[in-house]
Amino acid sequence: MKKIIFVLFIFTALFFVGYFIGNDSAVPGIMPIALEGDIAASLDIVNDESTITDGSTIADGSTITDESTITDGSTITNGHTIDYEITDTADPTPILFEFIDAHADTITRAMETGQSLFRNSLHLDFERLMDFNAPVQIFAIWCSDRYLGSAFEYANMVIDFFERELAENSDIVELALSLEDLERNAANNKISAILALEGGEPLEGKIENVDHFYNRGVRLIGFTWNRENELGLGVGTGSDKGLKPFGIECVKRMNELGIIIDVSHLNEAGFWDVHHLSNKPYIASHSNVFSITPNRRNLKDDQIEAIVEKGGVIGMNLFPDYLSTTKSARITEIMPHIRYLISLGAEGNIVLGCDLDGVPTLPYEFTDVTSLKTMSKRIADEFDEYIASAIMSENFYDFFVRFWGTAD
Ligand SMILES: [Zn+2]
Repeated sequence: MKKIIFVLFIFTALFFVGYFIGNDSAVPGIMPIALEGDIAASLDIVNDESTITDGSTIADGSTITDESTITDGSTITNGHTIDYEITDTADPTPILFEFIDAHADTITRAMETGQSLFRNSLHLDFERLMDFNAPVQIFAIWCSDRYLGSAFEYANMVIDFFERELAENSDIVELALSLEDLERNAANNKISAILALEGGEPLEGKIENVDHFYNRGVRLIGFTWNRENELGLGVGTGSDKGLKPFGIECVKRMNELGIIIDVSHLNEAGFWDVHHLSNKPYIASHSNVFSITPNRRNLKDDQIEAIVEKGGVIGMNLFPDYLSTTKSARITEIMPHIRYLISLGAEGNIVLGCDLDGVPTLPYEFTDVTSLKTMSKRIADEFDEYIASAIMSENFYDFFVRFWGTAD
C-alpha cells in the first residue's frame, strides 16, 4: 500500500510541476521515475529508452529524502531539483533485476569445501551478489557419483545447509518460490535465490519425492546430468532412447506443481519427449549453440526453435569448451552464440546460465560473478542496451511471468 501511495504521490508531484512551469517542450507523458535506495519501493518506472534532460523540475518537498539514484545513473540529492524529459513512455519495465542467472553450482561446492555462501573463495557469494541490484540466482544441487546410492538423503542435507545459510543472511537474501517472491525481494532490493536440482537422482524413482522437494523449495529440476538415471539418459550416454516411464510421470507432476523442467544435459530423444509432453514452457539452463560450437552439451537448431516455440529460455554457458573450439575463450566469444540465436528468432529467449562454480575454467577476463557487469557492457557494445538488458534479466523475468504468472 505504501508503494502505491508513494507512486501516486510522485505522479501527482510530477504532474503539477510540469503544469505550473508551463514547459511545453518537455513532458510528452508523465511517468513515475524509478529510484533506488530508501525509496526502492518504486523500482519500476523509467524504462531503457527514457532520458532525463532539461525540462521540468521536481520541487523540494517531494519524498526524495536521501541521495537517490535514477536507474539511468543520474543522481538526485536531497533538496535539489532535477530536470527531466521523458522521450519514450512505452512499455516501462515493471521491475528491475540487474541479472537473473539460470545455473550455478555454488551451494554444493561451498558445502563440500566447508565455506559459507556469504563469503567464500568460489565464483560467487552473497556478498558479491550485493554489488548488483536485486539479482536472481538459481542455485543447483548436483550429486557426485559417490552419493548416488543415497541421493535423496544427500540432496536433503544440501538443502539443510542452504536453509541455514539463508537464515544467517536473511537481511540480504530470500528464497523465491513464486513470481510474487521475486517481485517482493526486488522491491526490498534483496537477492532472490531459487533452488534447483541438477539431475533427478535425488527423486530415487518415486513420484512423491517430486512433491517432497517442491515442499522443500525446489522450483527447477534438470532431468539428468550427463549420465543415465530413473528419468532418462544424459548426453554423456550417447543413447538415442527417450524418457523412461518415471521421467514421463515427472513431466506431468512438475507441470502440475509449477516446477520448471530443465533440459540441459538431457539427450536429444529425451529433449523431444519433454518438448512434446510438457504443457508448460521449459528451459535449457546452461547450454549454447551447437552450430557455433559443436559440443554434445550445446543445442541444435531444431531444439532452439522448439524451445522458442514453447516460450522457454536458453541460458548462455560461460564454459570455454561450449563457447568456442579455441580453448582460450574470451567473453566476446559469447557474441556469435547470441547473434545466431537472434537469427533463429530467439532474441526474447536468451538468458544467462553462467555455470559458475560448475566449470573448471572461465573465459579470459571473467573472474567471478562481478564480471557480469563487464559482460553486460560488452553485449551492449556489440548489440545494444536493449538486447543487453533483455539477456541480463528481462527475458528471464518474462519467462517467469509466462510460467508462474498464469499458474492457478
Ligand atoms: Zn551442468
